[in-house]
Amino acid sequence: MAGLYIHIPFCKQACHYCDFHFSTNLKSIASVVDCICVELDLRKDYLKGEQVDTIYFGGGTPSLLPTDSLEKILTQIALLFPGKRQEVTLEANPDDLNPEALATWKSLGIDRLSLGIQSFQDPILKAYNRAHSSKEAKQAIQLARAAGFEKFSIDLIYGYPHSDHSLWHLDLEEALRLDPGHLSAYSLTIEPQTTFGNWTQKGKFSPAEDEFVAQQYEWLQEQCDKAGYVQYEISNFSRPTQAAVHNSNYWKRSPYLGIGPSAHSFDGQSRGFNPSSNPSYTKALAKGSVPFVIENLSSSERINEEILTGLRTRWGVDTESLANRYRLDILELKKGPITKLTALGMIQTLGKTLTLTRKGQLLADSIASEIFIDPHDLS
Ligand code: SF4
Repeated sequence: MAGLYIHIPFCKQACHYCDFHFSTNLKSIASVVDCICVELDLRKDYLKGEQVDTIYFGGGTPSLLPTDSLEKILTQIALLFPGKRQEVTLEANPDDLNPEALATWKSLGIDRLSLGIQSFQDPILKAYNRAHSSKEAKQAIQLARAAGFEKFSIDLIYGYPHSDHSLWHLDLEEALRLDPGHLSAYSLTIEPQTTFGNWTQKGKFSPAEDEFVAQQYEWLQEQCDKAGYVQYEISNFSRPTQAAVHNSNYWKRSPYLGIGPSAHSFDGQSRGFNPSSNPSYTKALAKGSVPFVIENLSSSERINEEILTGLRTRWGVDTESLANRYRLDILELKKGPITKLTALGMIQTLGKTLTLTRKGQLLADSIASEIFIDPHDLS
């Protein structure tokens, strides 16, 4: 079981919070798409013959791609990685949705949309420099449904600085009213290389306080719970049968091949990534070489990654599996921090599985770091 991730590095405009790799120079779409097809061929053995069950078009803005470009990539994938898919996802922005595009995506085998709505409030969309309006956000859901997309996710951002929580409450209420099968919600983080980062440095923008953001996260959990959604990862909620298969496999550490500028890959042992530059990427592939940098992971790094990603999910960290593979009894080795975190109501041990409590989900990364192992723990 493996996944294929295709990074489409183009956007109409730069959102003020975004530090993903993308370019607003749309003139190079055709050459990058050609290079993606070449890279697929050059790296077809990376997954060592594993069946590709899921395909995920992320970005950037994959819904910006002209239909013939999308078809070209999917035709190449079908040729090099034949077989039936469990899920084919396209990240799409509301302003790119129309009946024709949706019908074409469906006919190409795309069966799930991840809709970058972020907010239903025009002032917030404007502050984020999103290309769509609140009206288009709502219409996007109707259009996706009318086109027969049963699986789609509404993606939201919470934690926008404001005098109270009213805007977030309106956003979440609207999202739940639309009854999507899947909801992702991420807190607004201020990254240095973004417009918000720049404004923050110059004192022109003040991010919300941690406590304010935490209250919005708790509201999210409560409301999703009431509405019958299963929280299967810190930022992801779904109807029981609609958890994202591609992302779930990623968190369960299944191998995946990432194609396109800035895409990351994982083969079970090592990670690797392509350059976050469209010109560097196309230049290398034009010469027939793959600009892929391998990052070998030590055993302790692999274990710590498993702890970090496992704790973020409802499946938790399977300490028995770690013990079998690494001869490491993490429950014994980290007895001190685990006992302390359990007493604080942050984590729980069910059988041999370690999971975060709801309270612990607010501090997932720092909790994981308390359980991380050192290389000498394995010697
Ligand atoms: S948030 Fe999405 S649409 Fe906005 S700049 Fe980033 S990748 Fe592009």
